[in-house]
Amino acid sequence: MDLKINADDLNKCVQCGLCLPHCPTFRVTGDETMSPRGRIGLMREVQNNDAPVTAEVLESFETCVQCRGCEPACPSGVPYGHMMERARESLADAGKMTPLWQRLAFKPLSQPKLLQAGTAALSIANKFNLVPKRLGLPAEIQTSSPPLTASGTDVFLFTGCVMDAWQRDVHAAGKNVIEAAGFGVTPTNELAPCCGALQAHAGLAGETRSLAKTMMANLTGDAPILVDSAGCGAAMKDYGHLLGTPEAEAFSARVFDIAEWLAMHMDKLPKAEPLAKRVAVQDPCHLRHVQKVHAATRTVLRPYVTELVELDDEGLCCGAGGAYSVLQPELAGQIRDRKVASINRAAPDLVASANPGCSMHLANEGVPTIHPMQIVWTQISQNSELS
Ligand code: SF4
Ligand code: SF4
Repeated sequence: MDLKINADDLNKCVQCGLCLPHCPTFRVTGDETMSPRGRIGLMREVQNNDAPVTAEVLESFETCVQCRGCEPACPSGVPYGHMMERARESLADAGKMTPLWQRLAFKPLSQPKLLQAGTAALSIANKFNLVPKRLGLPAEIQTSSPPLTASGTDVFLFTGCVMDAWQRDVHAAGKNVIEAAGFGVTPTNELAPCCGALQAHAGLAGETRSLAKTMMANLTGDAPILVDSAGCGAAMKDYGHLLGTPEAEAFSARVFDIAEWLAMHMDKLPKAEPLAKRVAVQDPCHLRHVQKVHAATRTVLRPYVTELVELDDEGLCCGAGGAYSVLQPELAGQIRDRKVASINRAAPDLVASANPGCSMHLANEGVPTIHPMQIVWTQISQNSELS
């Protein structure tokens, strides 16, 4: 079967295995078919040798977290993430992957009214403990706070879908921090209902392309587009590759992680008493391995925290992986156990995570998580020398 993976990309892998220690699914299983090298081998068998798409092949691909921890470790520059997305899209198009119930489950993400109704229903069900724990919902889902309003046009703040429905307080903190630096903010709200990251991971890249085009048509001009969710930011920075047009490339060049952008404007942020706690930084994979801007989180946090500590696992995935923790709960839990052990060794009071999925997945195991922007805004609003 033609998986439509670029043949040059597929041939780049020299099967050296240097990526294996950086792969969370290989680390917890020790199984070659659950490693990047094994998965690439299966892609080659299917695409080049017309090997059948067996249950083993599908399991190998479906258990990949798409964390892309294998990419920076690869000396041959294998673009693994794009290859896996392409393979999944071909398999989904052929009806071998992503069943109808999953496709339907993604629909509300791009339809705000449906998402709102679903969130309200989930919130009620959650109160009566009717939602499976593995969904990792916050104890209190915010359903009634009003959408954020614009304060100017210097930058857009991408608000997106689930995060805006469940964690609008994080967007509010980020918006306040940007404003404290002296910039006017336009929250994207209905202009950009969803980035399409989860859909692309599930092989529904056609939906992602459609969402990308909507966003590009609505967020015109040249104002930077700031994103406080690492997974969404990575997806939006990839629109150039996904659509393959100069317009999409130009759009992606306007996208910044919020800390990446603030790190360039630190001189404008108010000084404040630092938080007197030990804070560990958890690097979301799509910030560290894909966007490669995780250093900025530390740059922004450092003046506002007395003790910033590092984890000792070199950014190994936490197992959240967008919808992965719901679809592959057992593996996601085993991967999280390793992350929690690393967090425990660092013994922090708080864990700062710039991705809502990681945050909820870790919080579900009792880890005290917080978004970096919430720390910065709390310190500025409570202790700023300039307030
Ligand atoms: S993307 Fe992550 S889970 Fe998938 S093969 Fe690479 S390192 Fe392993
Ligand atoms: S993906 Fe890269 S690091 Fe992994 S086996 Fe292939 S060439 Fe080696």
